[in-house]
Parts: sequence; structure tokens; C-alpha cells
Amino acid sequence: MRAILLGPPGAGKGTQATRLAQRYGVPAISTGDIFRANVSGDTELGRSAQAYMSAGALVPDEVTNAMVADRLSQDDVVSGFLLDGYPRNPEQAVELDMMLGGLGFTLDAAIEITADVDEVTERLLRRAQIEGRADDTEPVIRTRLEVYGVATAPLTAFYAGRGLLVQVDGLGDIDSVTERLVAALDAR
Ligand code: ADP
Repeated sequence: MRAILLGPPGAGKGTQATRLAQRYGVPAISTGDIFRANVSGDTELGRSAQAYMSAGALVPDEVTNAMVADRLSQDDVVSGFLLDGYPRNPEQAVELDMMLGGLGFTLDAAIEITADVDEVTERLLRRAQIEGRADDTEPVIRTRLEVYGVATAPLTAFYAGRGLLVQVDGLGDIDSVTERLVAALDAR
């Protein structure tokens, strides 16, 4: 399984990526998690990403692309991967194609978890109280959703055009969404 996960912030990509990765025996690679670990560890990468993240903006492509290229060159990716949070704009999608081409891999699916704006805003605000993520405040959530609409949403058509799009409704409880995802993926 070599797949990417699309969907707005709060759609449940991280939760479902972990579950799908376990089920299919591949690593879940979350660019957001990698950035957050680097911010916590106060690395150079973390310092270059932090301001963008706390504003809800995309980290510049050259930083993100280099980080993903490095991750995809590691040994565990040979069995497959599930990318969560990358690509996030058309330029990154083109870059991913080049990386995969260089590694001799092709993408099997682009999985989009759909959820409406009201639902995801509510979920993120609820999560803010539990996890305290710095970018889960109302103005930053609004920016992240805008960035998603402008930069990331066009990828749906991009991957649909290549016959790779699998759309799954992200509403409902976590287990039902996982079941829907597995059913949709196994049907391919
Ligand atoms: P969410 O999907 O809930 O917004 P993520 O954990 O995927 O959260 O991402 C958090 C932040 O990390 C983003 O708002 C952005 O600043 C940065 N980030 C993650 N992935 C990318 C990416 N592919 N390109 C640029 N920035 C990214």
C-alpha cells in the first residue's frame, strides 16, 4: 500500500492513518507530527517551521519537500507507506511524483476523508481543550481551513483525474470511518 491521505484539518486523518497503517503493515508518515517533534526538540527544522505552523500557514515547500524526501529514503518505506498531510498543494504533488519516480514507486491511492467545515471546526476546538495544540485556536483554525480550501482542495481533482481518488465520509464514530476506509480500499 502506497497512499496519501487528504481531507481538511480535523477530518480525522491522523487517527485513521495510524489505524490503516497498522492494518496494512506500513508506516504512517505525518508531516505535521514530524514538524511538531522538531519544534519540541528545538531542532533547526523545528525552528524554521514553527512560525508558519503557529500561524496556520504552510511551511515553505523547500523545507517540507526535503524533509519528506529524507523520510521516504528510509528502509521501512520499502513495504509501503501512508502519507498524512503531504502533499498539501499542487507543487508538492508534483514533487512527490518525482520522488516516487526516483525510488521506483507508484502511488496506489489518494484517500480523501470528507467532513464539512462546521463539524471539523467543532472537533478542533474540542481537541484544543484536550491536547492544547498551539494551532487549535479559532483564528488559526479558520486560517488552516482557508489554506486547505485554496491550496490543498485542488488535489482532489488532480488525483481523481489519475484514477487514484478514494473518497470516504469522515462523519460518524472512529470505528465506522475506519470500516468505511478499509472497505473502500479493499474494493480497489
Ligand atoms: P492539520 O491537518 O490538523 O492542520 P497537521 O498536523 O497535518 O494538522 O499540520 C500542522 C501544520 O504543520 C500545518 O498547519 C503546517 O503549518 C505544517 N505542515 C504539515 N504538513 C505540511 C505540508 N505538507 N506542507 C507545508 N506545511 C505543512
